[in-house]
Amino acid sequence: MNEPPNTVCPSSTCRPGAKLFGIVLPDGHVALTSECIEVDREFAQIAHEGRPPEQRFRFASGCMEGACRQWTGKQCGLIDRLVAEHERQLGEVIPPVSLPECPIRPECRWYSQRGAQACSVCSVVVTDMALSDAALPREVALRRAHYRERTGISSEKSTPHSPSKARGSQ
Ligand code: SF4
Repeated sequence: MNEPPNTVCPSSTCRPGAKLFGIVLPDGHVALTSECIEVDREFAQIAHEGRPPEQRFRFASGCMEGACRQWTGKQCGLIDRLVAEHERQLGEVIPPVSLPECPIRPECRWYSQRGAQACSVCSVVVTDMALSDAALPREVALRRAHYRERTGISSEKSTPHSPSKARGSQ
């Protein structure tokens, strides 16, 4: 997939100039906003007074490539690891039947790299957890919980996917 100009990272931090594009719901699923909301200094200051804003929202800002520790030299290692971990634990990442509306898709680093698979995994990424290598299993555990909730399958690793169910509501 071609890389768009001005590629943005969809798992950035809350700072002035970043764009808020997702809200983490109580069940851990990310609700995408219809438009990006630009973070200003006041929003960032207030947001940091409570729980880390990266646990409550999703932010996008310019991909820093080599200045980011997730950069492998050619691409973003984080989305590759999230997809690989999902595949290791749950099997193939099944893209949603139709892509969710996402205000940053044209510029999204993860989408340009992994296409619809990225959007499937992205729906349960919480940046404050995804930024930590040690927390990756927690993210996957969260995804497993979602999978169980959506499919009613309690032992998903040993049960073949039912594509119509596994795609869930994005
Ligand atoms: S991976 Fe997909 S859903 Fe997530 S931010 Fe990128 S385009 Fe949007």
